[in-house]
Amino acid sequence: MEEKRTEIASLGEFGLIDHLTRENETKNASTLLSIGDDAAVIDTFGKQMVISTDMLVEGVHFDLMYMPLKHLGYKAVIVNLSDIYAMNAEPTQITLSIAISNRFSVEALDEFYEGVNLACERYGVDLIGGDTTSSQKGLVISITAIGEVEENKFVTRSGAKEGDLICVTGDLGASYMGLLLLEREKKIYLENPGVQPDLENQKYVLERFMKPEAGKNMVHWMKENNLMPTSMIDISDGLSSEILHICKQSELGCVIYEDKLPIHEETKLNAQKFGIASTTAALNGGEDYELLFTISPTEFEKVKDCELLNIIGHMTNSSEGRKFLTNSNVKIDISAQGWKHI
Ligand code: ADP
Ligand code: MG
Repeated sequence: MEEKRTEIASLGEFGLIDHLTRENETKNASTLLSIGDDAAVIDTFGKQMVISTDMLVEGVHFDLMYMPLKHLGYKAVIVNLSDIYAMNAEPTQITLSIAISNRFSVEALDEFYEGVNLACERYGVDLIGGDTTSSQKGLVISITAIGEVEENKFVTRSGAKEGDLICVTGDLGASYMGLLLLEREKKIYLENPGVQPDLENQKYVLERFMKPEAGKNMVHWMKENNLMPTSMIDISDGLSSEILHICKQSELGCVIYEDKLPIHEETKLNAQKFGIASTTAALNGGEDYELLFTISPTEFEKVKDCELLNIIGHMTNSSEGRKFLTNSNVKIDISAQGWKHI
């Protein structure tokens, strides 16, 4: 059966915006004015506002051959919310701008917005505006996320102190394994379109790549348990790259222990199949969207039974360098080999 294809031109720009945002409803009291005017209006109720923006370009940041549009929409929102949580803030609004070519139908954009709306729903965020324009070829997505935080409760990358414990949420390296699997299947498909993809028993790593989640649970837990990290960052380019940011901006060294790295069984299994060390995936794989943060050692009692995090090392004097202690007790320098798009 042929799928229905509605040309964007049949709706026109304004018709398209109306169509894509037809089910948009405001969830936050701070959203005073949303889509439909020259600008949106936000009430901060005396809180401080954090803002972060990201651009995703087809062929550079995502590949539509294996990334369904609904997942892309979901993930595009999540990566932005992740930055807001990394400031210890609560995301409240996003704006979403897209550049599209006539290669995309209205139905395709509907799928993309389904993912966007689902993420907004789950994280209690309002879509309050954006821009729609045309592109020659690829899809470009730009999202700005806005969040709120109580006065001076935001957490930067620069506040870590010597002796602080280094914590990480969830597990690392799974998303990278998911990407490797999808890249492999794409190659096989391009060489022989008849072959059905073999994606059995890889559910977890694929989901971590296709449908990551942002650090909401950790940030809420910290608030409930009155825990203020001394520094925080989200892991988008790999643990190595992110801990180096904290070290640099806090002017400190660190030690991270290989045997403390949280790595999912499925990540280990797949790493083995690809002939790479799962530690490498955990250190240098990307797109985990977990939170990496430091806490004062006096907070140890508070976190020791928290299932959301693992303690993987501690901060040292800058003269001690940025070190990784392997399982065979060898100390090596941490270097950023994070997978950088640019
Ligand atoms: P302007 O000409 O003032 O830029 P637009 O016609 O671009 O206004 O947008 C009209 C309204 O629709 C604005 O509130 C804008 O923020 C919103 N909007 C435009 N494109 C999108 C989009 N892709 N997703 C969500 N809201 C959008
Ligand atoms: Mg506009």
